[in-house]
Amino acid sequence: MGLLSLGTPLPWEQAKNLANEVRKHGIEQFLHIWRSMKDREKDQLLWGDEIEYMLISLDHSRRSARLSQRGHELLNILQIEENEKLKIASTTGEKHELEALWRPEFGRFMIEATPGCPYNSTVKDLTTVEANMRRRREIVASLMRDEELILSIGSYPVLGSGDFLEPPHKANGQFSRSLFLPDEVINPHPRFRTLAANIRERRESKVMINMPIFHDTNTPHPFVDPTIPYERTLFPGDKEAKEGAALPDHIYMDAMGFGMGCCCLQITLQAPNVDQARRLYDQLATVGAVMMSLSASSPIFRGYLADVDCRWNVISAAVDDRTPEERGKRPLAKDRFVIPKSRYGTIDTFLGSDDGQLRPEYNDLDLVYDRDIHRHLVDSGIDDLMARHVAHLFIRDPLVIFEELLDQDDSVSTDHFENIQSTNWQNVRFKPPPPNSPIGWRVEFRPLEVQLTEFENAAFSVFTVLLARALLAFRNINFYIPITKMDINMERAHSRDAVLNEKFYFRRSCIDEDSRDEYLTEMTANEIINGSVDFIGLLQIVQMYLDSIEVDDTVRRKIATYLDFIRGRADGTIMTTAAWIRDFVRSHPEYQFDSIVSSAINYDLVVALDDIANRRRPAPELLGEGNS
Ligand code: ADP
Ligand code: MG
Ligand code: MG
Ligand code: MG
Ligand code: MG
Repeated sequence: MGLLSLGTPLPWEQAKNLANEVRKHGIEQFLHIWRSMKDREKDQLLWGDEIEYMLISLDHSRRSARLSQRGHELLNILQIEENEKLKIASTTGEKHELEALWRPEFGRFMIEATPGCPYNSTVKDLTTVEANMRRRREIVASLMRDEELILSIGSYPVLGSGDFLEPPHKANGQFSRSLFLPDEVINPHPRFRTLAANIRERRESKVMINMPIFHDTNTPHPFVDPTIPYERTLFPGDKEAKEGAALPDHIYMDAMGFGMGCCCLQITLQAPNVDQARRLYDQLATVGAVMMSLSASSPIFRGYLADVDCRWNVISAAVDDRTPEERGKRPLAKDRFVIPKSRYGTIDTFLGSDDGQLRPEYNDLDLVYDRDIHRHLVDSGIDDLMARHVAHLFIRDPLVIFEELLDQDDSVSTDHFENIQSTNWQNVRFKPPPPNSPIGWRVEFRPLEVQLTEFENAAFSVFTVLLARALLAFRNINFYIPITKMDINMERAHSRDAVLNEKFYFRRSCIDEDSRDEYLTEMTANEIINGSVDFIGLLQIVQMYLDSIEVDDTVRRKIATYLDFIRGRADGTIMTTAAWIRDFVRSHPEYQFDSIVSSAINYDLVVALDDIANRRRPAPELLGEGNS
């Protein structure tokens, strides 16, 4: 989430009539960017991370841990300083000295933080990441009350279950109309509630999220959730739960907040030019699933242990705004396309680049794209693959339109392009340069689950950056697999302990090889990361890259701790956060082996996680020996 537009967002009834207008101008804005930026060269390998946090309020006497709506209040305070310093910097032309930038997120209890400036391209800079992340936590902590804490965890275990919000509110809000989540969980900026409402209206029902329950020894078969208020009659959509939206043996959720209320770790990488950015986009997309399995940290939803370890599918369903026609439930009449996936999902088409590695058979999805937009882009000089990518993004409607911002100068503004671009939430995002800025072509790596500690978040960030640098340095590395196999990998990466038990499609050899050989195989995360007799392994590629550049010993040692940690996650000697949390719950004396994570268990869990995050509780099983 970047900066927020101010103004009045239109309700769906009005917004839908303006979709074509926004798309038309969005495409002109993209064309303007393309024309002025396509020849940019030699941009530095700048990069930056984004970490999302939840603010939690403890009540020790009641042993309860509740999400705090004060997250938004703290964010306002944090942004006052940021805005002042940025203003001074822009008038004096001096560099600002902000350690972090603060961004709103969907949840009122959430805060997002990035480094104050992107990191630079040196390897030495990689050793400053962890300290910067720690400063961010300290800065928020300095504003918190005694009973408050912040956690960077994937999903809040009891979100939408019982008394989970501080101050408490009933679930009866107009925007989400959820059976479980009050609208007060939503960031008060009007953009967010409009997003929730417009997704629901466009879809013509509430969103429908079902994650498989973890069947423990005392969990009933079939599991039918007794906590769903099936008989509520506050909103017309209330009947959906009993009419089939809530699946047996699943944890049912019905609002955007269940997904966008999850936290993640994202990494944005600048490439030297547009072609290299295209290369990074494609190659990083294919390693996303295995990386997600290593970072798994979301085993509990709405107070129940799930049989998955990741949040991705929850968010995907939580913002699935496709109409019944688009979902193929009704024949196409008023809508334009049947669309197989939610707008939050894996990419549907590779971009290709001047490395020549992309073969047509890797783009093996029958891509849905806007033919008119595609033709216009191609007629304007854009290559077919890029035109397809953009014409695919533009099958979606803009969800939130600000009346005041409709009229834009397409050679200056990118608002309409960004409106559609930024609500295509995919595993990688291709970010064009903003016009008239020093920023170049970037790729955002988005599948990682956020980790509890700075050490882990830094390790995942540094590993990703080094892998990206290796991809740019060694042009014969090739991770392409068919898009449909990438989708299967993402599904597999969700499952419980996927890092230990699943196999992922990968290239048999990821150094360019004889094209006549069968290039696809299936490997475990351990084989992909750590290599095997037949396969080099991603860590070895990173190591080769480090060996090819000058790195001093201190830097090398620090990076080695991160790479050792990644190795340990992949070979199973270090647990994932999801496995750790699941174990904690299952060995809690009050747990009844019925999948239920009670408010008291949640309290103990939150306290334990906070102790780990603040290095009061050693957790070598989670972080590796000697790391904290
Ligand atoms: P979004 O939410 O749209 O992804 P944010 O502004 O929250 O965007 O995060 C952008 C990330 O990109 C931050 O980590 C920031 O440090 C990083 N960044 C900023 N400028 C550049 C750049 N020129 N190259 C690479 N990364 C950058
Ligand atoms: Mg975010
Ligand atoms: Mg952001
Ligand atoms: Mg988010
Ligand atoms: Mg981002």
